Amino acid sequence: MIKFLDLEKINEKYSKELNEAASRVIDSGWYIQGNEVSSFEDEFAHYCGVKHCIGVANGLDALTLTLWAWKELGKLKEGDEVIVPANTYIASILAITENGLVPVLVEPDEKTYNLCPEKIEVAITSRTRAILPVHLYGQLADMPAIMNIADRHNLLVLEDAAQAHGASIEGRKAGSWGHASGFSFYPGKNLGALGDAGAVTTNDDELASTLRALGNYGSHKKYENIYQGTNSRLDEMQAAFLRVKLPHLDSEIQARRAVAKAYISGVCNPSLGMPEWKNVESHVFHLFVIRTQERKKLQEHLEKDGIQTLIHYPIPPHKQTAFSQWNDLCLPITEQIHEEIVSIPLDPTLSSGAVEHIISSLNSFSL
Ligand SMILES: *Cc1c(COP(=O)(O)O)cnc(C)c1O
Repeated sequence: MIKFLDLEKINEKYSKELNEAASRVIDSGWYIQGNEVSSFEDEFAHYCGVKHCIGVANGLDALTLTLWAWKELGKLKEGDEVIVPANTYIASILAITENGLVPVLVEPDEKTYNLCPEKIEVAITSRTRAILPVHLYGQLADMPAIMNIADRHNLLVLEDAAQAHGASIEGRKAGSWGHASGFSFYPGKNLGALGDAGAVTTNDDELASTLRALGNYGSHKKYENIYQGTNSRLDEMQAAFLRVKLPHLDSEIQARRAVAKAYISGVCNPSLGMPEWKNVESHVFHLFVIRTQERKKLQEHLEKDGIQTLIHYPIPPHKQTAFSQWNDLCLPITEQIHEEIVSIPLDPTLSSGAVEHIISSLNSFSL
């Protein structure tokens, strides 16, 4: 069986360094917010090309805490509208609703699955205060256009960069376009820890400082609390693991792109819709998502050939039980996408033999 994602194999390459990092933390006697966290924050800020990186417990917290910090800073208030793609992972929406803000679900571009500028403009109302673009599947949204809209309408931009570490447009990376960006280092992400981890990147000093306090019980100084904060800190051990993996991120992205290019040039099956992107730098292929009107049949066909597939995601947020108030919303593009997409294996350790096998299996599929 070709696994959808072989995490064991991905991390095995770094096994020696990961074990050394673990020993370093164990022997240090310092387990919360120590040298590993602050070093990783510096290294990841440098990688993204921003001034600040603030480690937090996970990707959802990165988004939630940023919106919360903007509320504390008086830039957002409850009831404000935040534009977000309707086809995103539920975390992007939860970050908005947890803050008492109102998500405005906007249909994505059918080809890139990302927010498109024209539809953002149409969705802007007098209550709109922020845009939350999601770089879905690893492809940067059209950030030059989105920042232009945000500037003209005086809106905040929070990038959900959980799937796009290292993707860039005009040499500017994910995490450096918006006023702030949330990253996840969930193990299956392109830069994955060995447990939960996340971070916010920003060039805004005031936001960075507020975020640091909010994630640390609302405190800058021990036992002095200026906000009713929470506990959301990047774990010292996970930071040590991330420091091992960050220097290899670019070569892993190259390996992912090589697999993606092989799929694109090898698959010629008119019943399958292949992903599209503007230029290779803007896509880091967190996921390789194809489309077909006969998804179940395709999944069974691939499974018969020993190829594991997943769906990202089977139910759109507005159709979830958790959001029953939006179940009647009509978002046909989003709904159709959710019915037709299939993610095929893509990771930097896939052998060329496995890639060839997947290509020939896709080519032998018929409706
Ligand atoms: C993974 C992911 C998140 C949440 O990250 P966690 O670390 O699991 O909390 C948010 N948004 C998107 C688009 C994601 O893929």
